[in-house]
Amino acid sequence: MKQRTVDVVVVGGGPGGLSAALVLGRSLRSVVVIDAGHPRNEVTHESHGFLTRDGIKPFELRELAHEQMKKYPKVSIIKDLVEDVWKVDDHFKTTTREGAIIYSRKLIFATGLKEDIPDIPGLDDVYGKSVFSCPYCDAYEHRDQPIALIGNKKELIHYIRLIYNWSRDLVVATNGPASLTEKEKEELRERKVRLVETPIKEVLFQDRDLHQLVFTDGETINRKAGFIVNTGAKQATMLPEKLGVHLNAQDGFETKEHGSTKVDGLFIIGDAAKRFTGLMGAASEGYETGVFMNKQFVEEDWINE
Ligand SMILES: Cc1cc2nc3c(=O)[nH]c(=O)nc-3n(C[C@H](O)[C@H](O)[C@H](O)COP(=O)(O)OP(=O)(O)OC[C@H]3O[C@@H](n4cnc5c(N)ncnc54)[C@H](O)[C@@H]3O)c2cc1C
Repeated sequence: MKQRTVDVVVVGGGPGGLSAALVLGRSLRSVVVIDAGHPRNEVTHESHGFLTRDGIKPFELRELAHEQMKKYPKVSIIKDLVEDVWKVDDHFKTTTREGAIIYSRKLIFATGLKEDIPDIPGLDDVYGKSVFSCPYCDAYEHRDQPIALIGNKKELIHYIRLIYNWSRDLVVATNGPASLTEKEKEELRERKVRLVETPIKEVLFQDRDLHQLVFTDGETINRKAGFIVNTGAKQATMLPEKLGVHLNAQDGFETKEHGSTKVDGLFIIGDAAKRFTGLMGAASEGYETGVFMNKQFVEEDWINE
């Protein structure tokens, strides 16, 4: 059993967790980042919108961070899965699948979400390559192309207007009766946006490039790219709940200022708290939390010295 004590354990090594570790390492704090290595965007080929790294592969971004973190001897990053956490007096105890036991003064969850896409044959195969969920991440590359918008959540009309911003060659396939008012349907007709409510039988593709939507009535529609209306992403782990932090109405973990929670010393950042921060937003939250946390350490140590 590998047992050790550090200032901070960070669960999750995406942009949120790694950014917190970086600023804490630079503040001379001992930090262990434990990461299972399955970020929310792991299916994508390119990540966009991260200043200075637009178009980078998701894992390349992490590798760059790991490389730069080597400079800070008090920061270590291990590939492992956190299986359990406890609060023991004023410390946290974290245990992993590989048998590590780590005690820390503070604990950060930056564990992100896991995508849950509609159960349509073929959709899983194209997701992240030619079908996406976040227009800000991937719509620019498919601007003006024939696009399918798939899904039927209550936010549908907002998504239609959003995707229309990037392409007017738009087919909306709701896979059942659309949750749109008659007035909204008329707005689509006026803009020549086709609405198909027939259930989708399957999605055909070539080399993970979307080719065709096949409907149960036999109709086929060719499309080059697609977006899914608000995928139903789930928390990657519910461990914060064990420590007393619950989900809010948006299914993000309840947090207060700088990612702090009602449990003293426990912080939750990135998608796990906000549902969608993007890479830049998660990194920014990590930095903010790291700075706030170090301020707490400084105050605590000053008094206890
Ligand atoms: C298909 C797709 C494409 C996207 N493209 C973009 C884009 O181009 N630009 C952009 O800004 N955003 C993009 N995003 C959004 C982006 O991926 C997230 O907003 C961002 O990754 C959130 O960062 P995070 O640090 O909160 O979590 P993540 O990056 O998801 O990292 C969480 C990490 O925690 C680990 N973890 C979870 N549970 C445990 C556990 N129990 N023990 C140990 N480790 C654990 C996971 O394995 C993972 O490595 C995309 C999302 C999707 C789904």
